[in-house]
Amino acid sequence: MQGEGFFAGVPSVFVRLAGCPLRCRWCDTKYAWDKESGTKHSIDEILRTILQWSCKFVVITGGEPMINSDLPQLVQKLKASEKHITIETAGIAYMPDMPCDLMSISPKLSNSTPADAKLAATHNDSRLDVAVLRELIDNYKYQLKFVVDSQDDMPEIQQTIEEIGNVDLEKVMLMPQAATRDGLLAKSPMVAELCKQTSFAFCQRLQVLLWNNERGM
Ligand code: SF4
Repeated sequence: MQGEGFFAGVPSVFVRLAGCPLRCRWCDTKYAWDKESGTKHSIDEILRTILQWSCKFVVITGGEPMINSDLPQLVQKLKASEKHITIETAGIAYMPDMPCDLMSISPKLSNSTPADAKLAATHNDSRLDVAVLRELIDNYKYQLKFVVDSQDDMPEIQQTIEEIGNVDLEKVMLMPQAATRDGLLAKSPMVAELCKQTSFAFCQRLQVLLWNNERGM
């Protein structure tokens, strides 16, 4: 089930592509960081597995799917099966002309910087590319999800939106940073208050609320 964004609650098949260079401090899919961490499947095998499920909605996530060179072919073939396709991305890389229905972009703020100094340097070099974010929102249907760890994140979020420019503010969502149900419940009122103040939408995390982030749900 899709847990986040404007399609939260919609039954969906998830395809998780391995590999992400960012190493965010609070990442809840660390097992997908390494490009070799997954199981190898051909695109046709992935399609056959997806088509075993009756739901129309498919979410391609990671890791970071937009750095996978096989993504365009997977999306093309999925679209031929008339699926509704969401790509979940941190917005660090651009690929043109994919027939996806929603680019779900979650730009990474300084609150995601890992503690390790070497990882932090790599992370800060690549976590935010305003030109890429502009291309994504100019060329795809999108939602923009910002992870909020504390209310102190708001100036950086506002500044990032201004730097991107041309952002439809009705597509901006604020999402509590939490990897556990207790953490989510503790942080949600603060984020809801920020949503009331800014008119940005509150972004649920149903996978945390319902299943406490258990893998495979
Ligand atoms: S961009 Fe996403 S998958 Fe990559 S480290 Fe950050 S939270 Fe994890």
